[in-house]
Amino acid sequence: MHLHTFIRLKYFLLLILIAGATNATAQRRVVVGIVEECPGAEVTTTRRYVDAITLSGNIPLVIPDISDSILLRQALKKADVIMLTGGEDLAPQLYGATPSPLLGTVNDRRDSFEYRAIAEAMRLKKPVVGICRGLQVINAYFGGTLIQDIPTECNTTISHKNIEQSHAHSISINKQSRLFRILGNDTLTVNSTHHQSVKDVAPGFSVSAVSTDGIIEGLESERLKVYGVQFHPERFVVGANSTEEEKMLFLRLFKELSKLK
Ligand code: MN
Repeated sequence: MHLHTFIRLKYFLLLILIAGATNATAQRRVVVGIVEECPGAEVTTTRRYVDAITLSGNIPLVIPDISDSILLRQALKKADVIMLTGGEDLAPQLYGATPSPLLGTVNDRRDSFEYRAIAEAMRLKKPVVGICRGLQVINAYFGGTLIQDIPTECNTTISHKNIEQSHAHSISINKQSRLFRILGNDTLTVNSTHHQSVKDVAPGFSVSAVSTDGIIEGLESERLKVYGVQFHPERFVVGANSTEEEKMLFLRLFKELSKLK
């Protein structure tokens, strides 16, 4: 072998080794499939979820409501984690209840799409995470029930539907939970923009967080990679009213998605 060729080859091999080592220490990125909100003619999600996922180093991908189940499965396969977001009330028929007069707007198409998305995610063994309505959908899908209207069904002085205030109430986090392992706090002040919440916890799930008035603010499956929170971590991450500490703290929930694959 010519000496120059040998030296070049040596440098080339060294470069491969360096590249390999750098890659090993880099954060693993996952594709987070955000299930769309099904408003009607458009395919929609809320930008805050997209931004929080991007800031965490992961890759957001909006999953549209595809009626063909085989094609929906193919689309979901592109994602490593499936995310269900905030939105309307769930149709109470889904968990065997009669609609309360104080039930808010429902979106049957979205209910049905999110149920199909969870079913396919389970077949594909993909992790599912839910935020706000997403937590409620998870609970109903796996056999739990919901409180349809907190102010009329619960004895509480806390306003959970507090859209203006970014710090609405405090929660206690179960020290045995995955949520505690990620956030490292057993009490936190969170935002709150819901008037529904988990009533009977779905079989196989445990409560990860609860507000001071006993409203369930987080659930996690005991054997599946399925998690949900009632508050909005993405609003802390990209919101104008959160401190730098809060942005970093709640960003951990989105960074942690890369460990779910
Ligand atoms: Mn709340």
